[in-house]
Amino acid sequence: MTPDVSFDAVVIGAGPVGLACALEIQRRGLTVCVVDKGALVNSLVGYPTNMEFFSTPELLEIGGYPFPTAHYKPLREDALDYYRRVAAGENLTLRLYEQVLALEGTPGAYEVVTTKGRLAARFIVVATGFFDVPNRLGVPGEELPHLSYYYKEPYAHVGQEVVVIGAKNSAAKAALQLARAGARVTLLVRGAAISESVKYWIRPDLLNRIAEGRIRALFSTTIESIDADAVQVLTPDGPQAVPAHFVYALTGYQPDYRLLTALGIDCRTDAARTPWHNEETFETNRPGVYMAGTVCGGLNTSRWFIENGRHHAAVIAAQLFAPLGEAACVR
Ligand SMILES: Cc1cc2nc3c(=O)[nH]c(=O)nc-3n(C[C@H](O)[C@H](O)[C@H](O)COP(=O)(O)OP(=O)(O)OC[C@H]3O[C@@H](n4cnc5c(N)ncnc54)[C@H](O)[C@@H]3O)c2cc1C
Repeated sequence: MTPDVSFDAVVIGAGPVGLACALEIQRRGLTVCVVDKGALVNSLVGYPTNMEFFSTPELLEIGGYPFPTAHYKPLREDALDYYRRVAAGENLTLRLYEQVLALEGTPGAYEVVTTKGRLAARFIVVATGFFDVPNRLGVPGEELPHLSYYYKEPYAHVGQEVVVIGAKNSAAKAALQLARAGARVTLLVRGAAISESVKYWIRPDLLNRIAEGRIRALFSTTIESIDADAVQVLTPDGPQAVPAHFVYALTGYQPDYRLLTALGIDCRTDAARTPWHNEETFETNRPGVYMAGTVCGGLNTSRWFIENGRHHAAVIAAQLFAPLGEAACVR
């Protein structure tokens, strides 16, 4: 099948890091297209309403565009607007709501197969993040409609029994927000305590709300099954049915390994199932196919984030092209 269109490079994923890669490559004078299965910065679109980033704005900047905010830490909405303005300011070619399915061809002559066609490119950058595949509970009832792996906002849950599963930042923030908005919150925690990795300004707030009884927390708890109106758990004191009109399983996410396999990227057998890439160049086992951003960490989803992942862009772009002003491509 003939490709619809041809570019020097295709970036898969229009997240902050994918956009950073595209603009670095485009500024070096080559053609680039960013393909995303959803909206621009689709992961951020899926974050909770008014979520406050833990990073200060200058650490989220890409392409040298200043990120002025009214607050010390930007909100999701600030970041959505910022990255939209960067993409528009750089006039990036975007193909949104177009899912990448596979990568065919040979080095220097790749074809990206999508739900809408085929794109030819010499170089590929995979910046697909980890927000699309939740770590599932693996228990009966997890497919019921009142359970979600994504938390948005508390307002639909006033006066309702809400179970939050998890003990890291996302679960902690959701439990606090839900309780403050008038939901009756039970936090189910697998370990014996709230994770030490919860940010230092969130953890004491949560511990104090648990201590005063505003949030009920059950520790060392195993989820057995999800029912229509309860979560069945095993606690150190025996089995319990925890009432639940709504359940948020905020148990983390992982890269889409099915996609990585379809792109021909080997994944290591280490504990983090790290997608194979040279740690200095970010080139994968497929020559001319690079990996950038949070996907590089595999299951270790706290290894890379926007703050440090955005720097992959310059590293990758510098390898594709000679310094600005010189025409020669190094490949
Ligand atoms: C709730 C939350 C808060 C966070 N806060 C911060 C913070 O304050 N500071 C910080 O530095 N980091 C933060 N992070 C971590 C991380 O930096 C972000 O997840 C960030 O979005 C990662 O950027 P990325 O470009 O690598 O991936 P993403 O932003 O996840 O972008 C990946 C893109 O790839 C697309 N995609 C996936 N599969 C396909 C496919 N088959 N075809 C086409 N497109 C595809 C997705 O739709 C998505 O748009 C946070 C993460 C979470 C979950």
